[in-house]
Amino acid sequence: MTMVPPPKLRKRLRKLSLKLARLGREPSDRQDYTCPLCGYEGPFKPRFGTVAIRLDAACAQCGALERHRHIGLWFRDNAHRTWGDILHFAPERQMRKLLQGLGSSYTTAELLAGVADLALNIEAIDLPDASYDTIMCNHVLEHVDDAKALPELYRILRPGGQAILTFPLIASWPESYENPDVKTEADRHKHFGQSDHVRYFGWDATTRIAAAGFKLTTIVATGQEAVTYGVARGDVIFLCEKG
Ligand SMILES: [Zn+2]
Repeated sequence: MTMVPPPKLRKRLRKLSLKLARLGREPSDRQDYTCPLCGYEGPFKPRFGTVAIRLDAACAQCGALERHRHIGLWFRDNAHRTWGDILHFAPERQMRKLLQGLGSSYTTAELLAGVADLALNIEAIDLPDASYDTIMCNHVLEHVDDAKALPELYRILRPGGQAILTFPLIASWPESYENPDVKTEADRHKHFGQSDHVRYFGWDATTRIAAAGFKLTTIVATGQEAVTYGVARGDVIFLCEKG
């Protein structure tokens, strides 16, 4: 049986192991990056992932992770677009600053009341049709029934609007991995990478998104972007447009 230290000690041990991971790197392996969200230039910090420590995960200044930086890059490259009224589900602090000043309004939403501007269940969104122009929704769909959530996102978008979606993806899997026998938190962690995840998406995420009515464009992080901005190679942003 594995010995599990109490939470306080575990927190300190995690901090210490990240420090050791940083110090233990070969100097030649260390690299400076640019953060497209805050402009910081220099080395990034490691973070614990599900199965490994990610050595260059977090911007040392604003805390942006790989996926936030990829989205930040895409926004920077698409500054000519208009964003209108923006709705941000499960709003990450690293993304708020970017989105707040971008459109004509910025609203945040969480499932639980009292933690964001609106309390919304993404599977049954309590908003009229055509309420927003831009929806940002990162790492939410792996927690919920996407067959319910995607049509709801489509419904509340105005024509010409867009939803920007990201979620854990195994792009080389043609089919998403779901398993009706996985019912406990411990099993969900083992099978889906986190105790409250209900699947790993495969590339069929594209057909699931299209089935909700969206015109889909996939934005894939390049090798050069990985070197310059420390984004994850091959990371995918799903740009879902309502015609
Ligand atoms: Zn930053």
